Amino acid sequence: MITFENVSKSYKGLNVLKNINVTIDKEEIVAIIGPSGCGKSTFLKCINGLVPVNKGKIFVDQIDVTAKDVDLNKIRSEVGIVFQQFNLFPHLTVMENVTLAPIKVRKIKENESKIQALHLLEKVGLLDKIDKYPEQLSGGQAQRVAIARSLAMQPKIMLFDEPTSALDPQMTQEVLDTIKTLAKEGMTMVVVTHEMNFAREVANRIIFLDRGQIIEEGSADKIFDNPQSNITREFLKSAFKKELV
Ligand code: ADP
Ligand code: MG
Repeated sequence: MITFENVSKSYKGLNVLKNINVTIDKEEIVAIIGPSGCGKSTFLKCINGLVPVNKGKIFVDQIDVTAKDVDLNKIRSEVGIVFQQFNLFPHLTVMENVTLAPIKVRKIKENESKIQALHLLEKVGLLDKIDKYPEQLSGGQAQRVAIARSLAMQPKIMLFDEPTSALDPQMTQEVLDTIKTLAKEGMTMVVVTHEMNFAREVANRIIFLDRGQIIEEGSADKIFDNPQSNITREFLKSAFKKELV
């Protein structure tokens, strides 16, 4: 479903991704972990063409995302992305936030779009908030609206970039539960997260990135209980210490 072939990315001479090769299958849930600045966000952004690569190819569902003539709008409607900061439109209600792109981009009729939005807002537990504005929501609620808004485009793949980093523990749990529901429904997902327990529980595979390279990857049991590399061990030691605080 997603294939990286010898992908390198640099920003003004700073090599951020170094010859990445990886394949993510349909319905797989992959957690990306690694220290700050190692290239996790860049990895995600390359998948839906938000940043161009310097070398190599990325295929999403057989479409070459890195091709010069790629239809990026099509890729972005197939690949949803949710960031740490929810980026809801502040002047639109929850309902309007969720229905805007399907109506404008997918050309779905307003009524149909509203019905779909109701289903999605029910799924994320926010049916009672449809007429609220973003500033009237908690961080956890806003993030769940952002997830519903992404799902409204009916993506085949969802990318999450530290979706809970800006949230307190209770709101974090609400958002993680929402992501877990999607996992159960068979959505293909790539989740950048610092929530190691969540990664262990939900991900089929963990990829550990360090300085733009995949140091190791495998099941949660393999990576967390039997890491092969010293770099992974050191990272996990500090990551788990943080989680216990
Ligand atoms: P992570 O998400 O793992 O923290 P990022 O992918 O955001 O890492 O960033 C990797 C490196 O690339 C960092 O050193 C960061 O400062 C740099 N970087 C990210 N985006 C840009 C950009 N648009 N221009 C220049 N440097 C960038
Ligand atoms: Mg990041």
